[in-house]
Amino acid sequence: MHICVIGGGLTGLSAALRLSGHHEVTILEMSDEAGGCLSSYNLPDYAIESLYHHCFSGDRFLLSLLEELDLLRDLEWQKGSTGYMVNQQIHPLTTPLQIIRYPLLSFFEKIRLALFVLRSRSADRETLDTLSAREYCIERLGERIYSSFFEPLLRSKFGDQRDEVSAAWLVSRIAIRSDRGPEGERLGYLKGGYIRLIDSLLLRLNAEGCRVETGHKVVSAIPDEVGWIVDGTRFDCLISTLPPQETARICSIPLTPLPYQGSACLTLGTSSDPTDGIYWVNMGDPAPYGAVITHTNFVPFDRYGEHIVYIASYFSGNPPEDCEEVMLSDFCIRFEIPREHIHWHRLRIEPFAGPVYVTGYRSLIPDPNPAPGLFIAGMFSPENYPERSMDGSIRAGEDVARRVLEWSD
Ligand SMILES: Cc1cc2nc3c(=O)[nH]c(=O)nc-3n(C[C@H](O)[C@H](O)[C@H](O)COP(=O)(O)OP(=O)(O)OC[C@H]3O[C@@H](n4cnc5c(N)ncnc54)[C@H](O)[C@@H]3O)c2cc1C
Repeated sequence: MHICVIGGGLTGLSAALRLSGHHEVTILEMSDEAGGCLSSYNLPDYAIESLYHHCFSGDRFLLSLLEELDLLRDLEWQKGSTGYMVNQQIHPLTTPLQIIRYPLLSFFEKIRLALFVLRSRSADRETLDTLSAREYCIERLGERIYSSFFEPLLRSKFGDQRDEVSAAWLVSRIAIRSDRGPEGERLGYLKGGYIRLIDSLLLRLNAEGCRVETGHKVVSAIPDEVGWIVDGTRFDCLISTLPPQETARICSIPLTPLPYQGSACLTLGTSSDPTDGIYWVNMGDPAPYGAVITHTNFVPFDRYGEHIVYIASYFSGNPPEDCEEVMLSDFCIRFEIPREHIHWHRLRIEPFAGPVYVTGYRSLIPDPNPAPGLFIAGMFSPENYPERSMDGSIRAGEDVARRVLEWSD
């Protein structure tokens, strides 16, 4: 059987890995390189993800894939510190003491917040699917705690679609067990960058005889009696890892569109540390971005010889005009970084950066086998709820491969 996989991101590569050896597999990827959201910039002295990435100790599927590819020994666990920028000042919020000292919530409000977090872990998610996170927080915590704590977090994650996000998403997100000690959360990073995971997958796929055709943007897939004709080539079966609305367009089938958001992420190399030793700073102040992430406050600076900073924002519809210059100038002024300290910068616009987990989201997740011989999986799959992740995408890829193997038997 000849299987076509549309999309050479983690979902497509993982699916292909489980199918190669059993069947002939061809991956069609529109970019010049595989990797999708996990692709990297190759700079003269190092490679760095074009979008910030770390993993968690509970990422079972990612960890076992790294082990299979003999990369697990190079997975390093580092401290992930966090902070908030409010009134032009960065407040560290990593350790219990820093949280106690945080001046923008009273002691009583912090206790309410802690109780809210504890209770959220056992909240009934089904009934919360129709309620927005905003309504849920305001009802339980009041407007002040919402606007000074949860609203900036939701803004940094969902931009102007934050008010549509469901309470079910929020409580599911809180319930994800984090590997947190008194010094902060332990986050994983692959020494040398996640480019090594993509390269190892490609090597393994090549050895298994899988064909990876980059620079091929699929425009049409038409069913015939026994398979699918993809851009003129016949395949017995088709796996699409694209957002449902893209699959619907290419395959001319009805599929309910899922709300997605785009991301505009500016990466830069600089001689100054903008975030005072903190890895992840959420913007409490209104800014043309939601978070500033200093990679070299997470992975040792010596590996790169300069600070690597991500300026992250999400958008709905089209990216804001001139966003590279707008983000860069605001960042330089707000974080007091002289322009001449910036060695290089690159912008990545990702139109489908992830689903927006709006109220009623779960009922929108499409049928994973929407037409004969067509299978779909990706960031929208249940494995990626409540957070799309490398782990969820590997799991979604492995799951779609299992379904294809069962179908072909
Ligand atoms: C800003 C950001 C930060 C993230 N940070 C983390 C993190 O810290 N930790 C974590 O675990 N996860 C993180 N993720 C999530 C993780 O990157 C994704 O879950 C995962 O990489 C998605 O893989 P995928 O294959 O499902 O989708 P994608 O990576 O989007 O792959 C889809 C592929 O399809 C290709 N394609 C699209 N249209 C066509 C077409 N018509 N023809 C051919 N090819 C096409 C695209 O070019 C792309 O390569 C982050 C994601 C983003 C956007």
